Amino acid sequence: MDRRSFIKLLGTAAVGGAAGKASQAQASPPPPMKDLAAARKTTSICPYCAVGCGLLVYTDRASGKIIHIEGDPEHPINRGTLCAKGSGLYQMAVNPARMTKVLHREPHSDKWEEKSWDWALERIAELVQQTRDNSFEATNTQGQRVMRTTAMAHLGSAALDNEECWLLQAMMRSLGLVYIEHQARI
Ligand code: SF4
Repeated sequence: MDRRSFIKLLGTAAVGGAAGKASQAQASPPPPMKDLAAARKTTSICPYCAVGCGLLVYTDRASGKIIHIEGDPEHPINRGTLCAKGSGLYQMAVNPARMTKVLHREPHSDKWEEKSWDWALERIAELVQQTRDNSFEATNTQGQRVMRTTAMAHLGSAALDNEECWLLQAMMRSLGLVYIEHQARI
């Protein structure tokens, strides 16, 4: 196989793989219009950023469960539109492809094991402390006080709301992290 065919094959495999993943992760389709027409409709505000886009939230009257969320066309800020975060509000919570259990793979193992959330939090805390203790610098090479670790970084998620972002900033800065970034800026 020549180089051109090899690259073409790789490209086809990559596109096929990505399409496969996308279809696996696909959330349930929106409910039929008749269900939406019968649902209770309430207004709300997207929690994810300070733009404050207006939402319409549809709740099934019998079960009391939310069945759909969309942009509010009468809201003066977004006039029915939503960005990717806002559009995914419902699918982030109600999605059969969403992982709900902790899976852990030991180094060099070929198996994933199910663990509890308590186990995961303990393990994360243990590794954070160990890394920070081993890398913390009180002063830099010029003797200036820096109180930092450059061995860890934190990446924020677009699904975090303002309050979660504030709490994470406060926690990461108090640990001495300097590499703090947000997915939306990358
Ligand atoms: S829909 Fe997007 S732009 Fe609007 S408030 Fe939510 S996150 Fe911000």
